[in-house]
Amino acid sequence: MSKETIEFTVKWKGKTFPISFLSTATVEDLREHLYTETKINPKHQKLLGLKSNKNKKITNNLALKDLKIPKSRKVMLMGTPEKILQKVQEIPVDLPEIIDDLDFDYDNEEFQNIRTTELEKKLEEFLENLEINIINKPRAGKKLVVFDIDKTVFDMKGIGSSSMELTRPGLHQMLEKLYPHYDIVFWSQTKWNWIEAKLFEMGVLSNPKYGVNFVLDITSMFKITSDYYKKKASRSSKSLTKEEKKKLKKRKHWIKPLEIIWRKFPDFYNEKNTIHIDDLGRNFVLNPKNGLLIKQFIKKAGVSKDKELLYLTEYLLYIANHYDDVRVLDHKRWKKEWARINRNRFEN
Ligand SMILES: [Mg+2]
Repeated sequence: MSKETIEFTVKWKGKTFPISFLSTATVEDLREHLYTETKINPKHQKLLGLKSNKNKKITNNLALKDLKIPKSRKVMLMGTPEKILQKVQEIPVDLPEIIDDLDFDYDNEEFQNIRTTELEKKLEEFLENLEINIINKPRAGKKLVVFDIDKTVFDMKGIGSSSMELTRPGLHQMLEKLYPHYDIVFWSQTKWNWIEAKLFEMGVLSNPKYGVNFVLDITSMFKITSDYYKKKASRSSKSLTKEEKKKLKKRKHWIKPLEIIWRKFPDFYNEKNTIHIDDLGRNFVLNPKNGLLIKQFIKKAGVSKDKELLYLTEYLLYIANHYDDVRVLDHKRWKKEWARINRNRFEN
């Protein structure tokens, strides 16, 4: 019998568990070990990043030597510990809303001074090296909707026993309804293999009723210094020391520059026909008029009553049917815009 060992790390909610097993150990052994570490029932453990060598389904009796471990030697674990799941089933608790105070209102006109020659260079550089893996070809005449993943359509760290429960309600219905009008892109601040794994878990890549055109990952994002943190520093005058403020003002942040897409596919997508849905306003600072800020999706205990995607579907369909230029509406206040449109519709 082979004495070879297999080593990698499993990450779960910010914790890292080093794994070192004989290559003949099985997936079941791994799951049992992870159970002692995390108390997540082996049945509910989702291991992202693991594939079988021979394109087989990962079953419990598969030996670890038959697995394809990612190059990074990191595997991500998803799941909720048994105790929490039990509690959840006993008492439906309403946890307090988590507000990301790192993010606040962005303004359409305020970020124009970031368009420097340096930024222009960066864009060009990115465009040169950009490789996009097309899943479905861009379709002429369609608008484009770009979705963030984490906390926009999926809450990997949320409470639930399956990936389906961690998917924002209404996602598939929304994509199905939008598809006749919009091409669909996902763009997330993680590496491609995580994005692929998450989309797979959500069932987005296998749904026959719509198609994803392509996916962009963190390698298509870059960091800039914008007014974003300057504004934050000036607003938090009391809570920060002078030094802290100075530091905050210089802080860089990631952005998702839609222009990369527009320059790559000038025949299909442009600033008039693209909407970018994200829970972090700072991702929009280069193209604020195309950004639609959505409430964060935090999957708490129990069945989620979140209706954001239902409203968003109606809003995006209305835009598709009424406007050539999506920037006509103020997406920053999209719910107010939607209420106003509905008032007018019913009054007339
Ligand atoms: Mg997000």
